[in-house]
Amino acid sequence: MRSLSFFVVVALLSAPASAAGNRAKNVIIFLADAAGLSTLNAASIHGHGDAQKLFVQSWPHVALSDTSTAGNWVSDSAAGMTAIVTGVKTQNGVISMGPDTERGKKDGAVLKTLLEYAEEKGLSTGVLSNVNIADATPAACYAHANDRRKFGEIFLQVFNPRFGDGVDVVIGAGRPAIYKAMKELNQDLDAVAAAKQRPVRTSLDEVPAEDLRPVVVTEKEPDVPAAARMALNRLARNRKGYFLMIEWDAHTDDPQKGLDNLVAFDKLIREIASKVNPRETLLLFAADHSFGMYVRGGKKGDPLLRGLDEWKQKYPGEKPRTIELPNINVLRSHTAEEIVVAATGPGAERVQGFMPNTRIFDIVMAAYGWPGGKK
Ligand SMILES: [Zn+2]
Repeated sequence: MRSLSFFVVVALLSAPASAAGNRAKNVIIFLADAAGLSTLNAASIHGHGDAQKLFVQSWPHVALSDTSTAGNWVSDSAAGMTAIVTGVKTQNGVISMGPDTERGKKDGAVLKTLLEYAEEKGLSTGVLSNVNIADATPAACYAHANDRRKFGEIFLQVFNPRFGDGVDVVIGAGRPAIYKAMKELNQDLDAVAAAKQRPVRTSLDEVPAEDLRPVVVTEKEPDVPAAARMALNRLARNRKGYFLMIEWDAHTDDPQKGLDNLVAFDKLIREIASKVNPRETLLLFAADHSFGMYVRGGKKGDPLLRGLDEWKQKYPGEKPRTIELPNINVLRSHTAEEIVVAATGPGAERVQGFMPNTRIFDIVMAAYGWPGGKK
């Protein structure tokens, strides 16, 4: 008896604090496309008149993630998101296939994604985007392709999943581009969708309450907060849990649009955080790569984007490579420096220090308590 109680005490003392009791049932990745550290800084000043006022900037766990690809310092969304959802760095332009892929020519190793692991385990899954739902960031979650431009081949994989019954909630834009790509493949998307009893709806309003696995592809930007509410309402019914990825573009080629998007996304994240159970839901904020937007001047109280309208009038229809305003500079290009990963909820404590983007995959796997990721 004595030795037994000794072992019990030792076992209790040595049990990691984050054992089974602290696992995540649900994971939501908020992916602000192109929102590096300097963009977060600018968005807080633009939206709230001061630094560090974004909701995600209040989260307890933060890391700086490298975004280099298998072969390049600067990542596109395809390689950046592939690293996050598969744990493998690949080539630019490649959707969840290995670095052996020859872009547009030869398939590489098919890499299993977080969404596919979740489907395999019987969780519910969702992918939302304010832009083309077949474009790189959402595509890397549910599809595999040797070139991100193959929208037809990519979107067909919604209906032909490798694991489970495939992604359950799909909401995003890109309708004209996706239908055009289908035509080029001699595919009738509506017929494919009808055969699977998953009609491709044109708006959120068209989704009936009883459709728990809606596919919505809009022509213009969908209402992301409404889409997120629709998704959560459905995914949260699964007692096993869910995996959800929400992308909101924050490229600052147009600084007004990019920063407005990021401020709105942050507001949505605040709303979602207030609705989910914080003890069972890991919330992760990340970007796929950084972008050349920098605050270079300005006094407190001065609008950050002062001079933008005049600048636009000066270059009607043109797209100069740089924007120079009194308070900001934008080099319209992805950049290589680390992006911020912020997290809260079970498993968030693993988000720390300087790390590769592939570790986000490991962190999510570990949070769910699944083997496969590196600890
Ligand atoms: Zn991107």
